[in-house]
Amino acid sequence: MSRDTLLVSEFFGPTFQGEGTSLGRRALFIRLMRCNLTCRDCDTAYTWDATRYDLASKTQELAVEDLLAWALSRAEALVVITGGEPLIQQTRLLPLVRGLVEAGRRVEVETNGTIAPRFGLESLVSQFTVSPKLTRFGAGMPLATRIKPAVLQAFTATGRAVFKFVVSGPDELDEIAALAQAHELAPVYVMPAGTTADQVLAGAAALADPALRRGFHLTTRLHVLLWGDCPGR
Ligand code: SF4
Repeated sequence: MSRDTLLVSEFFGPTFQGEGTSLGRRALFIRLMRCNLTCRDCDTAYTWDATRYDLASKTQELAVEDLLAWALSRAEALVVITGGEPLIQQTRLLPLVRGLVEAGRRVEVETNGTIAPRFGLESLVSQFTVSPKLTRFGAGMPLATRIKPAVLQAFTATGRAVFKFVVSGPDELDEIAALAQAHELAPVYVMPAGTTADQVLAGAAALADPALRRGFHLTTRLHVLLWGDCPGR
């Protein structure tokens, strides 16, 4: 791979950001290939899991300048860079983010929180949406693989991080509270797992009151409510 290309799974938009602090905002999405974790319940395993997918056929090696031109040809002010784990390619991501920011775009990066942002990315990105993986979601992965205290601290130090946990049920809120306290994570959003509208609505309803009691924010998955499990939306 040359230095001025990125390994991309898909890029699409305009659509709505379906999760978190920018929920409902018009946005463009760039989803990068590869991940350093192996979450059992991953809904984007087509970006990394060679045992289930032909990754070569899922990968587009795209020039940074072409991705930048595509994004800047659209009117949307928000560009979301996601994965996979996008920070695996952060040296190549840097010129794309710089170009977007210089053109006045807001850039949000969605990350699993195990790779610290470097090379200036930490001061260019408008928001890091950091999603540490819980025991159940990351089944089979040791704690030390999923949770890296120094990296979480690095995200907090940017002053641009929010922490979003994918939750299978209210019984996981104790685990989130313990992580938030141990690593001083704030603000904390909880989001129901699910790839159907019924799952997301039921999950959000189950989380609502417990999240309120604990001081957590709640986000739904708007794109799932609107379009189900549909790549590219
Ligand atoms: S960190 Fe995200 S992309 Fe990687 S395996 Fe887990 S859920 Fe999937």
